[in-house]
Amino acid sequence: MGLALRPRSFDEYVGQRALITKLRVYVQAAKQRDEPLDHVLLHGPPGLGKTTLAQIVAHEMGVVLHTTSGPAIEHKGVLAGLLTGLGEGEVLFIDEVHRMSPTVEESLYSAMEDRRIDIPVGEGSAAITHSISLAPFTLVGATTRTALLSAPLRDRFHIVEGLRFYTDEELAAIVERSASLLGLPASPEGALEIGRRSRGTPRIANRLTRRVRDFSQVAGHERITAADAARFLDTLEVDDLGLNVSDRSILTTMLELFSGGPVGVDALAASVGMPRDTIEDVHEPFLLQRGLVVRTPRGRMTTAKAADHLGRPDPHVHGRGRKRGKKGSSGEPTLF
Ligand code: ADP
Repeated sequence: MGLALRPRSFDEYVGQRALITKLRVYVQAAKQRDEPLDHVLLHGPPGLGKTTLAQIVAHEMGVVLHTTSGPAIEHKGVLAGLLTGLGEGEVLFIDEVHRMSPTVEESLYSAMEDRRIDIPVGEGSAAITHSISLAPFTLVGATTRTALLSAPLRDRFHIVEGLRFYTDEELAAIVERSASLLGLPASPEGALEIGRRSRGTPRIANRLTRRVRDFSQVAGHERITAADAARFLDTLEVDDLGLNVSDRSILTTMLELFSGGPVGVDALAASVGMPRDTIEDVHEPFLLQRGLVVRTPRGRMTTAKAADHLGRPDPHVHGRGRKRGKKGSSGEPTLF
């Protein structure tokens, strides 16, 4: 979904101002030198605009974008095919770049560094290796967390940038633009109501905009109003902090089964019945950012705000208060 809603240029891209300012400079400098842009690594939770940025970078460089993903590059031959198919200065976007096999990843090193790829020809003891030189190109890699990447791969990206969650106002701007493109404009209040509940994430803002648009349209309204948005998002069980059913289930499990934590992510994943990666990539960053969960050296803990939001007593105050005495800096909660 969403191709029609994707911004095409830096000007249309909402938010991430600091990152956009830097990328504009890098793109302009590369163009002035008539060189491809350095390899770029973009990291951040799903739906924040990494793929969109890769498309914009190619568009602004005036070159073709080729798209693939880590798991789709099944062996060295597939990678060689992709790389030899790149024209001068073109961009190869690899989504989920942390999910390549080690042998594929190793072949990528020489491609990134020396613009060369070794291809084995023949089999067994008669096999020889052909070294093929590649046209200058830019690799844009995307990953949810840089920690998932091996150090040698990470080091070969010269531009490494993280995407942040969007503010409510930025999301409201995205909703207004998308609603207009979808043919049913949103009032500023309606856009803000959807933006507020979009978990800081443009992909979710667009998804919710489509659903609320259906609701407003069936109700015969000419614009998406704040009341439409609130009513329908309540029906979708998206609450006023933007938490969905899974977010709330994680918090409820932490509060009920683990007395608010600290709890390790594996124990939590097993209890909630979700893959650990989903918790770490999708839910935890948002819960941390909203101050509903904190990470400590001993695991994740709910905050008073989380207990309050779910209308439950805060276990750290009522049940286990004595455990929270100051123990020096190692016990202090840290964000990230
Ligand atoms: P990611 O690759 O990080 O998972 P995408 O680039 O696929 O995220 O973005 C998801 C959707 O959100 C896109 O279809 C696009 O329409 C929208 N989007 C992302 N970032 C922005 C932005 N900065 N401004 C407007 N829309 C955006």
